[in-house]
Amino acid sequence: MPQPPHQPLQVAAVRPQRVPVRERDQDAPWHSDAVCRRDEAGLFFAPSKEPTAARLSREEAAKRVCARCPVMIECREHALVQPEPYGVWGGLTAAERRVVLARRRRRDLELQKARATGRIAAAG
Ligand code: SF4
Repeated sequence: MPQPPHQPLQVAAVRPQRVPVRERDQDAPWHSDAVCRRDEAGLFFAPSKEPTAARLSREEAAKRVCARCPVMIECREHALVQPEPYGVWGGLTAAERRVVLARRRRRDLELQKARATGRIAAAG
């Protein structure tokens, strides 16, 4: 099971920038290239009783780190699939991940209904 790239010490809305895909060892776990492994661990998780303004500022800073991370897509998908309930992962806060998951569930339901009613052919 992959270990989180950043430690839950403390904990983020910046649109991810495109970063060049680095040559990576395909056998290495995705988090071995995580930018947050180095020195920004405290940005990604909220300390207890963090004021809203401080949280928003910290989350923005965490998202800027994610925007230059070469494994942002892998990290985001990991956090969605687990799912990870806390912290900024792959440039998304926990609340943003819940929105993405709700949209995926709704899309999947609509696809199921469309297949059931014959509006689209079942895959496979
Ligand atoms: S996308 Fe963000 S949280 Fe994920 S590994 Fe990269 S820097 Fe860390």
